[in-house]
Amino acid sequence: MKAIVNEAECVGCGLCVDACPEVFEMNEENIAEVIADPVPPEAEESCREAAENCPTGAISLED
Ligand code: SF4
Repeated sequence: MKAIVNEAECVGCGLCVDACPEVFEMNEENIAEVIADPVPPEAEESCREAAENCPTGAISLED
């Protein structure tokens, strides 16, 4: 699985980092960045949760 953050839609809430720190990190501009590609199998569930709960729908997932 691969996670993608649409930087233009990210509002820097940090929720995805809280939900799945294995995959997401905030950068200097307070935008979420993907730090694990592909998503490690053990982080897939929390990564899906992060994508579902992102308030702006900025996270997309690909198989
Ligand atoms: Fe950005 Fe969404 Fe992550 Fe919040 S949950 S930091 S809006 S990608």
